[in-house]
Amino acid sequence: MIIVGGGIAGSFMAYLEAKKGEKVVLYERNPNQEKSPKACSGGVSTMWLNYVGLKPPKDVIADEVTGYDIYFEGKELVSYRGNRTILYILKRGYFERWLQQEAEKEGAKIIYKAFYPSVLPDEHLVLAEGASGFIKKSMGLDEKRKLTDFHTGVQLIGETPNVEEHVVKIYLTKYASTGYAWIFPHHLGGEVGLGVTLPHAKEAWPYLYKWMEENGIKINPVIRQTHIIPTNYPQKWRYERVTILGDDAYMTNPLTGGGIQAALYSAYFASNNRSLPLSLSLMYKLLYRMRNRFRNPYSCTHRTSRGTRRTTWTRGRVGRQSP
Ligand SMILES: Cc1cc2nc3c(=O)[nH]c(=O)nc-3n(C[C@H](O)[C@H](O)[C@H](O)COP(=O)(O)OP(=O)(O)OC[C@H]3O[C@@H](n4cnc5c(N)ncnc54)[C@H](O)[C@@H]3O)c2cc1C
Repeated sequence: MIIVGGGIAGSFMAYLEAKKGEKVVLYERNPNQEKSPKACSGGVSTMWLNYVGLKPPKDVIADEVTGYDIYFEGKELVSYRGNRTILYILKRGYFERWLQQEAEKEGAKIIYKAFYPSVLPDEHLVLAEGASGFIKKSMGLDEKRKLTDFHTGVQLIGETPNVEEHVVKIYLTKYASTGYAWIFPHHLGGEVGLGVTLPHAKEAWPYLYKWMEENGIKINPVIRQTHIIPTNYPQKWRYERVTILGDDAYMTNPLTGGGIQAALYSAYFASNNRSLPLSLSLMYKLLYRMRNRFRNPYSCTHRTSRGTRRTTWTRGRVGRQSP
């Protein structure tokens, strides 16, 4: 099996398949993932990591989150503080590298260079290239998409007085009406970011600064990150000799925020269902299962936030994205 992309989806797939005794070669074009990681805030539910059987070591975790605040246009909507870790903030780059090391221990071979085949290899090809999807497109496996199926995420990382240790802050705001703005803890201080749909990509940075100014949010940034987030789910994500995972298969849902969990779960699901043709209807079943996992002691507050996010999202869809 050849896996293209050593992000979360590809590295986890390499680990799962190597563990089963499959001969795996993983290609990752970025040899410095720790120093120049994928643009991402790194938030992932501990429940999901448990579900797919992963226990990341302390040194790949920037923060263990036990509480959250959700704001709606500046007003606090839900505030929760507990004593159980509900979310990890992963150190992106370090987390992938740890998965790759685990895969290597199981016998996978990792090659740190770009993979661009001129002919389709004989082995099963797993595409986990992230948002670029270059090989998928060149093989004619890309599905027709609308511009609104892509989001642009922008964020600043650095010292900020607005961050609270062990707490994530989500802001439902007109400046990010199809997603949200956020303040997350980070090992360099905090992360302040926002997501908009692709037609508004040019406004993403001005919206972030405007939203920060209106809400009195300050940061001394050492890193600026921007990246595309493909959303809206694939019609089909396994072909005869090709499986597509994670962002490459448009699996992030801006409402549930879970690009990392979708990347992990798509690898987990594909590896456990090797011969199934993976398609949209299966994806819905999969997401339904994911959603049910949230019916935990916090389900009430989760449901409230989901409802509100759905409302803002619908408003965004009918064209009220511009503030
Ligand atoms: C600003 C921002 C904040 C985010 N915050 C969160 C968050 O808090 N929680 C969350 O769950 N999700 C978040 N996401 C989404 C999340 O980052 C992605 O959904 C996730 O990284 C997808 O993982 P992946 O493995 O599919 O792709 P990626 O992580 O993009 O990995 C793809 C890999 O493939 C490699 N590659 C590509 N082409 C080739 C090639 N030809 N040869 C070799 N290697 C190749 C790339 O170098 C890369 O390492 C955020 C996204 C953004 C933009």
